[in-house]
Amino acid sequence: MFRPPGQCPACGEWVPRGAVACDDCGACDRSGWKSERAVYDGLDLPDEDFDYNEFVEREFGQEKTGPRVSREIFWRWVAAIVLAVMILGYIMSAF
Ligand SMILES: [Zn+2]
Repeated sequence: MFRPPGQCPACGEWVPRGAVACDDCGACDRSGWKSERAVYDGLDLPDEDFDYNEFVEREFGQEKTGPRVSREIFWRWVAAIVLAVMILGYIMSAF
């Protein structure tokens, strides 16, 4: 069984000493240090019984997945702004 400090067995991110779960992927002692993302990726496509509300709750309702989601949104915004600045710079230099 994995014990911090060390590299997360699920995602390879460094897990600091005393941490109970991986900051990056949420893997923890309880889940056996398996990436939750990997578990979700392994799911079959939603069938007719697929409950969207339950899915959202599972994906976004848990506290430990919160920071990860907001971080992804943050970097998406950073990427969008950088792209916009680059396009703006290109247009400016054309005149
Ligand atoms: Zn991890």
